[in-house]
Amino acid sequence: MENRIKSLIKKLSRLGYHVRPKNNTKIDPVCGMKVSSDLLKTDYQGESYFFCAEHCKEQFDKDPEIYILK
Ligand SMILES: [Zn+2]
Repeated sequence: MENRIKSLIKKLSRLGYHVRPKNNTKIDPVCGMKVSSDLLKTDYQGESYFFCAEHCKEQFDKDPEIYILK
């Protein structure tokens, strides 16, 4: 399952789809904005998520599943 998802993500990014990047550019999973600072951060299930603003982080913390599954 895990590997299928990984290869799917690879395929999509080759096609130019926007996939949540691991390294440099961080995307706020709540509003979809690029995040340049790593001050607002939540670790969830081994992944780090970054937020543009406190209210986005709060929303994510309340119900992370909604935003991860998008
Ligand atoms: Zn945001």
